[in-house]
Order: sequence, then structure tokens, then C-alpha cells
Amino acid sequence: MVTGSRFTSAVDRRTVLKFGAAGAAVAALSSRKASAERLRTSARIVIAGAGAAGISAAARLVQVLDGASITLVDARKEHYYQPGFTLVAAGLKPESYTVAANRDLVPAGVTLVEERVEEFDPAGNKVVTNTGRSLPYDFLIVATGLRLDYGAIAGMDMRLIGRDGIGSVFAGPKAAAATWQEMSRFADKGGIGLFGRPATEMKCAGAPLKYTFITDDYLRRRGNRGRAEVIYAAPTKGLFSVPIVSEKVRMLYQERGVKVRYEHVMTAIDPGRRVATFKTPSGSEEIRYDFVNVIPPMRAPEAVRRSELAWQSGPFAADGWMEVDRSTLRHRRFANVFGVGDVAGVPKGKTAASVKWQVPIAIDHLAGTISGKPSTMAYNGYTSCPLITRLGRAMLVEFDYDDNLLPSFPGVIAPLEELWITWVMKEVALKATYYSMLRGHA
Ligand SMILES: Cc1cc2nc3c(=O)[nH]c(=O)nc-3n(C[C@H](O)[C@H](O)[C@H](O)COP(=O)(O)OP(=O)(O)OC[C@H]3O[C@@H](n4cnc5c(N)ncnc54)[C@H](O)[C@@H]3O)c2cc1C
Repeated sequence: MVTGSRFTSAVDRRTVLKFGAAGAAVAALSSRKASAERLRTSARIVIAGAGAAGISAAARLVQVLDGASITLVDARKEHYYQPGFTLVAAGLKPESYTVAANRDLVPAGVTLVEERVEEFDPAGNKVVTNTGRSLPYDFLIVATGLRLDYGAIAGMDMRLIGRDGIGSVFAGPKAAAATWQEMSRFADKGGIGLFGRPATEMKCAGAPLKYTFITDDYLRRRGNRGRAEVIYAAPTKGLFSVPIVSEKVRMLYQERGVKVRYEHVMTAIDPGRRVATFKTPSGSEEIRYDFVNVIPPMRAPEAVRRSELAWQSGPFAADGWMEVDRSTLRHRRFANVFGVGDVAGVPKGKTAASVKWQVPIAIDHLAGTISGKPSTMAYNGYTSCPLITRLGRAMLVEFDYDDNLLPSFPGVIAPLEELWITWVMKEVALKATYYSMLRGHA
């Protein structure tokens, strides 16, 4: 009953907010950038997670709403520019290239609570943090990213990264730098280099492929490619979810002598013997390595996974991804909740590039609810990946939910071509674009 009455009062409050704003006769959000046009509201908005999606959502809200109480919740004090991890693990950038202070990125007018959301209570319209603090809201934006489940690989421990030939580009700035040390040692000597990806949904599905190409290139530059075997273990029968990209990578791997093992899912690692175990259709198989890039299964953070916000059935349920509408990013059962970034249970996506498109759309729908003028914006699943194929060359791969290639620079950057200009985009321009997105710019 208590929950029910809280829910009712929050709904009533939203109704009041909606009509209050409608009375102010505001213009459509997309044209409501200048402060004079901001939508006047007293809505309480909580954002869980201050990563790429959370910070950019906060910045957008500040641009379009006037008078809202916006609270950003994240226990992590550091902000990671994760696309830079690959460059750190390639020895091209220092660890510091990928780290900033969250405090410095939080827009003025937004309250930062440096705690973790422990409980999502969408029926009660509140979240509860690890200190027991309850944060009621009229609207919730969930932007918690995902959890790297290293524990799901028997024998694997994050503390092993940087020792005995074990690397992992994904685990954070320090792990990326430690991975570079191990990969560089391998490139100096040769041996067996083992690469692959998990069977779950993952962020930046191009990253494992890129790192294989980069390692191959270092072996060649150091004259040791002949002394090395490079193996890529794919969990499915393809190398990438978009068939034309998968085929292109297969051809390049064949050209470069990368041996592909299909339908191989890593289940265990034995650092002492330097052996990884894989589940395959014909049973368990061991592969020896001198260097391995371990990429663990990825799932929604526990607080989301065990909450009412997770998909209850279907392909996204097992790993707890959030049940949002794929076009609006609005929760399918709790209309005042949105899910953006890696946590969203939508096909494809899980890149900073998806965040760039998802966030403005989710915010437009949120503001549309307040103003009483529903948004018509729809997300088509756009995502992109500058897929490094060697140092100094990359292919820009951009596509939507339906695997359509969506080149942003037709006539200038051909998709699926190894180009220097695409490399420059990844190495130089992407970081500036990312930080611009955090400031709420397109
Ligand atoms: C190696 C690598 C390479 C990549 N390369 C590219 C690339 O080339 N191009 C590209 O577009 N993308 C790339 N990405 C992907 C991109 O970085 C992510 O998709 C993007 O950061 C997702 O943003 P997010 O806000 O959803 O998650 P994150 O940026 O991970 O932020 C999530 C935040 O939520 C917080 N959080 C978690 N749980 C809770 C909780 N319970 N309560 C409160 N806060 C919580 C975390 O502390 C974190 O700060 C790459 C990623 C990696 C790892």
C-alpha cells in the first residue's frame, strides 16, 4: 500500500508537471536550445551512472529544462574515455589519456551524489544508494553501463592482468597499460597469441578484432610474425554481427594469417600452464598461449539485473539488460524511466557512438512528456566502430538495427576500406567528439 500510494502521488506529480509545462506553451525540444526557450519545470530527475551516457544526459537536460532538480549518482570518481583503452593497450597513448575527474565533467546545476545505486524501485519511483539514501524521482534515467564478469571464466582474476602473458584491454586504464606491456613482450619473442570475444552482448564488439590486427602488426614490425601463431576464437559462426563486415574481417584475417576458431567460448584459464579452455560444439578444447587478451562475458550491473527494470523474458533477460523500447529508449513498463548506453536491452549498440544518438532522443521523449507534446524522434540503432586494421589504417563501420551500412561521409570515407583518414579519426578526432558529446553538443 505504501508503495502504491507513493506511485500514485508521483504519477499525480508528473501529471501536474506535464500540464504546468503545457500551460507555458513551450516550443518543441529540438528547437529549444537557447535558455530563453528552456522548458520550465520542477521535475525531479535522477540519473544513475555518470559515464558517457549519464554525463551527456545531464548536459542535455540542463540545456532544455529550467528549474528541474537533476541528480547524478555514481560512486566512481574517475571518468574513463574507454575508446582510448585500445590506444593505451597499443602503446600509443599513456594511461592518463583515458582518465578524467567526474566532478569536472558534471554540468553546473546538477547535483552529484558519489554513491552507488543499490536498489531500483520503479514502482515506488525511487532509487536507494549503498549508504541507504533514498532518492525519489519523477523521471529516472538509467545509464549504469555494464559489468565485466571476469568471475565467469574459471581461474581468471583481474589481478592476473599484466602477468604471465595475460592481457585484457577492457578492464580499465591500468589494465590497458599492463596489456600493452604483455603484448609488447610477446611481439618481441613470438609464440602463440590468443584472442577472442565473449558469447554475451558486449560493448564495442570491434575492439577484440582491432586488438588482434594491432598485435599482428607489431609482430610484423618487429620481424617476429614468422615466429608467431595468431588465433582468434569466435563464439559464433561469424566474426561480427553484420555479415558484410564479418566477411571483410574474415578476408583480412586470412590475408594476415590469423587462424580463426569458430564456435569457441572461453570457459577457463590456467595461468600456470598458459592454457585457455573453450566450450565448442564437439566438447571442451584447450588452447595454449604465450599471450592472451581475455574479454569476459558482459552483463547488466547487478542492481539493474535483479530489479523490475530488467527484461523478464526474451534474449536480453538472462543477462539482465534493461527493458526499453528500441526506438525511444523509454522503459516498456515504467513510462517515467529511460535506459541509455550499454545497459539498454536493445539489439546492437553498446558504443559511445550509440550513446551520442540515443541520449538526445531519450531526452526529447522525457521533455515531451513534461510539455505534453510527445516527441516523434526515433533511434534507428545507429552505431559505429573505427576498426583499426593496422597501425595507421582503420575501416569506419557504421550500421543500424537492420545491418544497413550508414556511411556518415559518403564519397569521402568509404565503409569497409582501410584508410588513413579513418585512423586519424580514431587516434585524434574521436576523443574531442566524445568530450563534446559529454557537454551536450551533437
Ligand atoms: C576497449 C574499449 C574500446 C571501445 N572503443 C569504442 C570506440 O572505438 N567507439 C565507440 O563509440 N565506443 C567504444 N567503446 C564503448 C564505449 O566506451 C561505451 O559504449 C560507452 O562508454 C558506454 O557508455 P555508458 O555511459 O553506457 O557506460 P560507461 O561509460 O561505462 O559508464 C557507466 C557508469 O555507470 C556507473 N555505474 C555502474 N553501476 C552503477 C550503479 N549501480 N549506480 C550508479 N552508477 C553506476 C559506472 O561507475 C560508470 O561510471 C569502447 C569500449 C571499450 C571498453
